[in-house]
Amino acid sequence: MAEVTKTDILIVGAGPVGLFAVFELGLFDMKCHLIDILDRPGGQCAELYPEKPIYDIPGYPIVGAQELVDKLMEQVRPFNPQFTFNRMVAGIERLPGGGFKVTTDENEVFETKVIVVAAGGGSFQPKRPPIPGIEAFEGTSVFYSVRRMEEFRDQDLVIVGGGDSALDWTLNLQPIARSVTLVHRRPEFRAAPDSVNKMFALQETKELEFKIGQVTALGGEGGRLSTATIKGPDGDTVIPCTRMLPFFGLTMKLGPIAEWGLGLHENLIKVDTEKFETSEPGIFAIGDINWYPGKLKLILSGFHEAALMAQAAKRIVSPGERVVFQYTTSSTSLQKKLGVA
Ligand SMILES: Cc1cc2nc3c(=O)[nH]c(=O)nc-3n(C[C@H](O)[C@H](O)[C@H](O)COP(=O)(O)OP(=O)(O)OC[C@H]3O[C@@H](n4cnc5c(N)ncnc54)[C@H](O)[C@@H]3O)c2cc1C
Repeated sequence: MAEVTKTDILIVGAGPVGLFAVFELGLFDMKCHLIDILDRPGGQCAELYPEKPIYDIPGYPIVGAQELVDKLMEQVRPFNPQFTFNRMVAGIERLPGGGFKVTTDENEVFETKVIVVAAGGGSFQPKRPPIPGIEAFEGTSVFYSVRRMEEFRDQDLVIVGGGDSALDWTLNLQPIARSVTLVHRRPEFRAAPDSVNKMFALQETKELEFKIGQVTALGGEGGRLSTATIKGPDGDTVIPCTRMLPFFGLTMKLGPIAEWGLGLHENLIKVDTEKFETSEPGIFAIGDINWYPGKLKLILSGFHEAALMAQAAKRIVSPGERVVFQYTTSSTSLQKKLGVA
């Protein structure tokens, strides 16, 4: 039987709003576990525009999107939130004795008193590269994220792409794979210059191969990949390939949220504006994923929603306990929780 992880609050999505919710819930002593499909916190800020400056976060005339995520992570540290990355929340069901059972796409099981859906624009899904017949190898030889590094041990690995994911995994998997070939259409990369330099250094010492070009064909049978054809400036080359990791960017889809029986408004979750609760008691929705009259998809709106949601969640997690409104500036008990008093 699958091991069950228990928590007060399960947060679906570790974007800026899910992260700030940890802070607001933490002030009321509620323990949070966040699950995200991505391999890092930050949602759209980290994935879509990490280097862009944001100008409308109160108190910050200008802040980089990744910098905001880093600050939020620092702000929630006193509450020791638990994270499960690289997993999609697939199913939720109500438990007979109260609370919910939440399952991921890898069948991990969580039990929680409250669910907070902070899923933004929905689940980030990898874009499939235009290689004929690639579907036949997906999940057995072709993967769009690295869930278990062991999957790549002693394999002939081809990584396709020029962004941070492609370069990070090239460097991380090189020591355990039998061979690594990075394929990118051009010699310029979007990834961090330091990673690019490290990759070129490994190419110099022949510890990996870098090829300019595109993967145009795959060979193999029964879902087992054996070769990849790379079309480059000098024509086609066929190389051994038993695992492939294409990183062609991500699109956002609502994903399994549509099947959770929550009241929707044009693919967004309908909530009230007092508690930001959905049509299902005990399930809240905050940030870009929710809808109410006048909703603005701004980070600051999500932060406000998190504060009000936390008060309502506390009443469910600790029924009968008085919910006292306090300022962090003047409450010693809040300051103790933050580790500053
Ligand atoms: C280019 C660009 C510029 C922007 N500029 C600004 C700006 O200047 N100011 C501003 O206020 N806003 C701006 N925004 C909007 C802002 O980024 C969003 O409002 C904000 O990211 C919403 O935060 P969130 O936490 O609700 O959702 P997201 O940031 O979308 O995070 C949601 C997370 O949930 C995860 N998720 C979804 N479904 C599941 C599931 N089933 N299981 C597990 N995980 C799941 C996703 O992987 C994602 O990481 C901008 C957006 C873009 C694209």
